[in-house]
Amino acid sequence: MKLIDLSDLSTKRLNALAEAGIESVGDLLNFFPRRYLDRTTVSPIDRLTGRGEEVTVVGRVKDIHEAGYRRKKRLEVIIQDETGTMKGVWFKGVSYFKKTFKEDEIVAFFGKAKRYGRSISIAHPDVDKVGDPSDLQDLTRIVPVYPGNKQFSKTYITSKLIHQWVSTVLKHVQPPEFIPKEILKEQDLPGRKEAYRMIHLPESRNEYLKARERFKFEEFFLFELSIAKVKHRIVERASGHVFSNLDNYTKRFFNEHLPFELTEGQKQALSDIKQDVRSGQQMNRLLQGDVGSGKTIVAIGAILMALDNGFQAAFMAPTEILAEQHYRTLIELLEPLDITIRLLVGNQKNALRTDILTDIEGGNCQVVVGTHAVIQDQVNFHNLGLAVIDEQHRFGVKQRAEMLDKGSHPHVLVMSATPIPRSLAMTVYSDLDISVIKGLPGGRKPVKTAVRPEKKQDDIYDFVEKNLKEGGQAYVVYPLVEESEAVDLKDATAGYEKLKKQFPNFNVGLLHGRMKSEEKDTVMKQFIDNEIQVLVSTTVIEVGVDVPNANIMIVEHAERFGLSQLHQLRGRIGRGTRQSYCILIYGQKVSTEARFRLSKMAETTDGFKIAEADLKLRGPGDFLGTKQSGLPEFKIADIIEDQWILAQAKSAAWDLIKDDPDLQRNEHQELKKVFTPYYKERAKFYGMG
Ligand code: ADP
Ligand code: MG
Repeated sequence: MKLIDLSDLSTKRLNALAEAGIESVGDLLNFFPRRYLDRTTVSPIDRLTGRGEEVTVVGRVKDIHEAGYRRKKRLEVIIQDETGTMKGVWFKGVSYFKKTFKEDEIVAFFGKAKRYGRSISIAHPDVDKVGDPSDLQDLTRIVPVYPGNKQFSKTYITSKLIHQWVSTVLKHVQPPEFIPKEILKEQDLPGRKEAYRMIHLPESRNEYLKARERFKFEEFFLFELSIAKVKHRIVERASGHVFSNLDNYTKRFFNEHLPFELTEGQKQALSDIKQDVRSGQQMNRLLQGDVGSGKTIVAIGAILMALDNGFQAAFMAPTEILAEQHYRTLIELLEPLDITIRLLVGNQKNALRTDILTDIEGGNCQVVVGTHAVIQDQVNFHNLGLAVIDEQHRFGVKQRAEMLDKGSHPHVLVMSATPIPRSLAMTVYSDLDISVIKGLPGGRKPVKTAVRPEKKQDDIYDFVEKNLKEGGQAYVVYPLVEESEAVDLKDATAGYEKLKKQFPNFNVGLLHGRMKSEEKDTVMKQFIDNEIQVLVSTTVIEVGVDVPNANIMIVEHAERFGLSQLHQLRGRIGRGTRQSYCILIYGQKVSTEARFRLSKMAETTDGFKIAEADLKLRGPGDFLGTKQSGLPEFKIADIIEDQWILAQAKSAAWDLIKDDPDLQRNEHQELKKVFTPYYKERAKFYGMG
């Protein structure tokens, strides 16, 4: 069999290819064009109006020169097609870009065409190297453009050359089909070999679009298969503890000691959980609810169910402050039930820690509240029946999986206030069952939000003072720039000193990440007990903190915060009956995107709307944290843009696993070959490697 063998290439070229992830003929086939040029997409130069329209032009490089003065040098690259000339202009990176061009080569420019006098130019165009001068006499064909890089240009690997290689490869290889034929037919997608031809050598726009659809489907299909498989294995192994007795703690608490009426959402969530823990299978449930929707009480319900059946329960939070708060809440609410609850966090004294660990191991301690310290190896539970993980988004998928595997395979309840749009949630968390608490507890007034410039500070402080006099409390938050906590501390500390002078009749406290946990604890307690009225803080209070009497949230340099962070911060207030106010103060240099974020905050308090906007701004990788979420990086598919394909792939994959979980059928053998190594890699994220 004769195919182009990569080993025929020079070492330099091989290295350049390897850098782009191409190490085999198969990789080469999977190196897809990033653009296609044809008559319908490329504009002849003499047709450009130069009114700032987005265009693609293709031409031969005629001249490369620098212009302007020393300080304001610019690079001009003149290109010519059959109809005329125009130029690309660079004001930055002049010497760098100058080196990337060669006279006579054919390039494509993408960007906004502007007319200056008689000539048209594009500033900082996006450039693709199309090929050598012999190429591109006409655009009757569709010309694919492959991604290039510096190493490619150095070793003369042009888009055209790649195209030639791929064309040869395509003549000689027979890429095996692994998606079952029936599914392809159902989805109206081309077979694998045909799809490679269509994506590399398309005869029409329709062909490459269809081919792209097929490869996107393929990526999603494998991903969804892996999740379906994980889920299948969880269900399979899942003989879970049965919590059939709810007569003691659970009944007593909900009938006699609950300080308020449950919302419908809370009741539904509790009933979902009750069903899970009685089913005989291991629970693996996500409880989603906006900040302030009251997830904690649902967690407490689940914990009591475990305790009623003689099991221990663990309650994990992402920060010490939050763990301590949960600990206090539990102590307070469960006080009449006489339950042993212990707090386990990172920096406790050795003697205390040993004592706690002994209690956990001996079964004297019924509930352990803590940070991730709880899942460390030294912690041996006597009989852990339930693990609750609060603010799941702060933990990785892996930690959740570790919990599932802990000791005697406890039921797992994870809670998250990241209001991920449902479709995305179903993907990212599709190994989980999901309960959603809609709406907030009644009797609350929606938070009023204002966006104000720094120079209005005096007015803002007057407003705060008025509220403090009426008995309210305020948070003042300073941003935390990860690289330099020292700088933030300065901000927060300076703010603290200033506010002490500003509000001499009230007590002002300071809270930041560098304080010892006892110190933090003391300050938090004082704030809860209203001994402190103004709490100056870094973002350590961002997640979960619950002080219902606090009704003002001031965020300094709000432009530096992300949307979900701001939403979380605003979620700290509006928890009691007082009218609450969130005041977002912005500094001097505010980017367009930051403006958008601030106006979005002012526009809505709906966590789902904010999450959607955030997702659009940041993309799913950043939004969820790719590593945290266990979401793979898709090569061609886009989890937001291609949701429709995702839904199709998901349903096909889940049906298939239901039908043939181990891919034993004849018609699934090719799929099995591809899926087995893929799954092995993915399963690591789920602690199932
Ligand atoms: P989150 O979902 O953000 O974790 P919490 O569990 O901290 O919310 O609850 C927010 C506040 O609402 C707490 O002060 C809690 O006591 C109170 N709360 C919870 N459920 C109800 C309810 N059904 N009615 C009134 N207040 C409630
Ligand atoms: Mg919470």
